[in-house]
Amino acid sequence: MRDRDDSTGPRRIAYVLPVYNEEDNIEVFHAALVEATDKRPDLDFEFVYVDDGSRDASLERLVELRAQDPRVTVVQFSRNFGHQLAVTAGLDLVAEARDADAVVVMDTDLQDPPLVSLEMIDRWEEGVEVVYAQRRTRKDTAFKRATAWGFYWVLDRLASIEIPRNVGDFRLMDARVVAEVARYREHDRFLRGIVAHVGFRQEALLFDRDERYAGRTGYPLRKMIGFAASGIIGFSTTPLKLISRIGYAISLFSVLLACYVLFVRLFRPEDSVPGWAFLGVGMFMLSGIQLVMMGVIGSYLGRVYVEAQDRPLYTVAMVARDAGDARTDPRRHRDMGVLDPGAKP
Ligand code: UDP
Ligand code: MG
Repeated sequence: MRDRDDSTGPRRIAYVLPVYNEEDNIEVFHAALVEATDKRPDLDFEFVYVDDGSRDASLERLVELRAQDPRVTVVQFSRNFGHQLAVTAGLDLVAEARDADAVVVMDTDLQDPPLVSLEMIDRWEEGVEVVYAQRRTRKDTAFKRATAWGFYWVLDRLASIEIPRNVGDFRLMDARVVAEVARYREHDRFLRGIVAHVGFRQEALLFDRDERYAGRTGYPLRKMIGFAASGIIGFSTTPLKLISRIGYAISLFSVLLACYVLFVRLFRPEDSVPGWAFLGVGMFMLSGIQLVMMGVIGSYLGRVYVEAQDRPLYTVAMVARDAGDARTDPRRHRDMGVLDPGAKP
């Protein structure tokens, strides 16, 4: 990873830009992005467009862009893998190239205003490692707003870490954070959760989300539900624990029912139907026990799941130790513990 205080060259910001069927947006978007980034001639920029298997002429547009602007990098997917994986591929590319100091992830439909990314860069220069854009307003339908609200409500209650509300993937990340995110290799990805999980100094930047410039959303309800599920299931095993809780509740109910049955039997024998007690209590008790047992299986499954995700155990931000410069140099930990003398200057 590049040395941030390096005096030999300007600092470099890489933009990671997922593209899916955006043929009518790309040119306008890139022009707006260039206009914004031109306001910072002291910085170097790279624009990594990832074409996520578009079915329209998006790829041709990107190749044209690259012919005009050598700062454009084009990655083409073999098919549509989805927005989260397109962003991941861009981040991986930047992390591997090790020449960027920070990465901005943004949509290419002009819903994320390029000028806001300049404000992010200002905040990053003040030392904030993750600047995420939080929507102050959104021009979405009432339905999308309501479902988004419900999703964050559930996530807040279930997830093991705090994932900020009304935040998409529009954000700036310091190169150290990108290097860390690149270590999370789970297949079902909820990137904003991973970034929250990684830690470091993270701050929100309020902005007004615009309407999509042209074309249609690549996120229909079906995909949104799947995405919400990855967010909840990826960061919580609470749904599995729910099984045992329901099991305990039903078991308790069967005990109360048994008491009631006994009461009827002893004090009001004229109301009792033969066989009823055995069947009623037995049914509740058995299904209660079954659910408790499934919950036990669930707890083990939860552990297997967490192990299978194979996430890094922790992220070191800095080590202060009296043993030579390299150890106390926080920059060393941009590569998270790998001291690489061969890294590009
Ligand atoms: N996108 C993508 N792959 C997909 C769907 C979308 O790379 O399968 C890109 C899309 O080009 C855009 C961003 O992800 O840059 C956000 O998608 P979209 O605008 O469709 O989502 P919305 O803003 O409606 O949530
Ligand atoms: Mg959009």
